[in-house]
Amino acid sequence: MIVQVGNVKIGGPQFTVIAGPCSIESEGQFRQTSESVKKSGAALLRGGIWKMRTSPKSFQGLGQSAFDFIKKVKNETGLGLVSEVTDIRQIEEISPFVDAFQVGARNMHNYSLLKELGHQPKPVLLKRNFSAFIDEWLKAADYVAQGGNQNVILCERGIRTFETATRNTLDLNAVVYAKKNSHFPVVVDPSHAVGISELVAPLCFAAAAAGADGLIVEVHPEPAKALSDGDQALTLEGFDKMMKQLEKVLNAFDRTLKM
Ligand code: PEP
Ligand code: MN
Repeated sequence: MIVQVGNVKIGGPQFTVIAGPCSIESEGQFRQTSESVKKSGAALLRGGIWKMRTSPKSFQGLGQSAFDFIKKVKNETGLGLVSEVTDIRQIEEISPFVDAFQVGARNMHNYSLLKELGHQPKPVLLKRNFSAFIDEWLKAADYVAQGGNQNVILCERGIRTFETATRNTLDLNAVVYAKKNSHFPVVVDPSHAVGISELVAPLCFAAAAAGADGLIVEVHPEPAKALSDGDQALTLEGFDKMMKQLEKVLNAFDRTLKM
């Protein structure tokens, strides 16, 4: 099945890369990142407006104050935006600014949010909860689809295992399983899966080789100054380098990058 996000079709023969900061932090940061990832071949932007942080003391996102400049930057780059909706009450207000709603790992089991997103037409990128069985993830997607919105993109973002050296464990089993047992496109988020920027690129290549439909990757112009998830962010240059190698991996599987 193909899901269209803005003017980008996800789930066809081409491979889609969604890239941008974990959090949208300022007009300058969002513009610089967006322009750069576009040049490197990203088809869509990502960036959190509201954040689901483990600690309430951590940066919670710019919220509504970012709306004006988000519109400007989107118009300038011409790329669609995927951004997380953390609460039912945000759906309406964020809708004019996003081309797909992200449901975060922590909200995968929020069935009232999923039902509500099923009653509107925009696509939903549904992250797998870090403790969810694949079956629970696929059933969560059905909650959206049952409301009438078939435009669901599944996203594997790493699960909790006994391992603590990395942030989570990227479950490529889930990617190949979901590709076989669900009709929704499947993308991989290597950034939250591994949590260490140096290890992100190899997992991008592995996801492409495993048959994922695309990636969602965190990129920041100055990772050390990021207000969230700096440890796992690729630099602008690091992302560009990864994309060049990714194309070679895709070509080995007779696939190309969606630009
Ligand atoms: C994110 O995409 O920045 C995020 C919070 O992801 P997850 O819900 O997978 O933790
Ligand atoms: Mn993040």
